[in-house]
Amino acid sequence: MKAPRFAYARPASIAEALALLAEHKDEARVLAGGQSLVPMLNFRLAAPRVLVDVNRIAALSGIKVAKNHVRIGALTRHAELGRSADIARHLPLVAAAIPHIAHPAIRNRGTFGGSCALGDPAAELPACALALGATFIAAGKKGERRIAAQDFFKGLYATALKPGELLIAAEFPLPKPGYASAFGELARRHGDYAMVGVAAHGSTQGKKFSDMRVVFFGVADRPGRAAQFERALEGRPAAAESIEAALAKLDADLSPRADLHGSAATKLHLAKVLAGRVLKQMDGVAT
Ligand SMILES: Cc1cc2nc3c(=O)[nH]c(=O)nc-3n(C[C@H](O)[C@H](O)[C@H](O)COP(=O)(O)OP(=O)(O)OC[C@H]3O[C@@H](n4cnc5c(N)ncnc54)[C@H](O)[C@@H]3O)c2cc1C
Repeated sequence: MKAPRFAYARPASIAEALALLAEHKDEARVLAGGQSLVPMLNFRLAAPRVLVDVNRIAALSGIKVAKNHVRIGALTRHAELGRSADIARHLPLVAAAIPHIAHPAIRNRGTFGGSCALGDPAAELPACALALGATFIAAGKKGERRIAAQDFFKGLYATALKPGELLIAAEFPLPKPGYASAFGELARRHGDYAMVGVAAHGSTQGKKFSDMRVVFFGVADRPGRAAQFERALEGRPAAAESIEAALAKLDADLSPRADLHGSAATKLHLAKVLAGRVLKQMDGVAT
């Protein structure tokens, strides 16, 4: 199928993009990598009157390491994250997630901001942002505002972004010494969206788990932390036995719905198996 008719604008600055979004309100849609939006147009699942193509706005791109955080511009491509020495060094969780996102052609165009603004519940980068305690920065007519990752993902394809706002970047705190992370997902074929995924981050210093953030994706309408599981790990020896003992808590944390991939019981089982595998891969965990 072909996309419905639309007008096309290619602003050169954030200010120009915001003016266009303010002018056209609900009838405008931001175009970043186009890897989700263009199929939605072609399937007529979206029919914006105006596409605001932000690909020429240099200020939206790039990875910058500051004293306390790593800033990822919204327009930074998945492939750029995968190639970045700064991401590999400071945010190994993000580096580990990238090869699971689709295929090289899609990673060459798809953007960090597009993935987070879309809010697909089975996407990898939103889960990493939540596990690492990132803060999103959105710009609108009234200036910029900061939104913690835990408040950003509101539900199925729903985020805290308001009409007329542009996601411009996210800041990821630099991990503290002794912190480790691990990532894994189960998909029918490599590159497919996850049936279930886990992004974990926390301290294994002193051979004990502490401050664990264990995020599941692909099992609910948005990525979410497993609070009881995290609590069961707190202060326990960083060892396989502690992980096995805590896995039962996932019955309370997760209530997956049946989907095309399997029944609710199957998804819960897969989530437990995957969580066990992922946590045991963390640096500092004795297996
Ligand atoms: C075959 C296929 C397989 C895929 N597999 C995966 C996968 O396994 N995991 C995964 O995570 N993704 C997957 N994707 C999606 C891919 O990662 C997309 O890149 C991503 O979902 C959207 O990013 P984009 O830059 O292409 O955004 P676009 O398609 O351009 O936009 C997506 C949405 O976000 C909005 N938007 C974009 N940028 C901004 C911004 N800066 N501010 C406000 N709103 C904005 C757009 O208006 C639109 O609503 C797949 C895509 C395809 C086609």
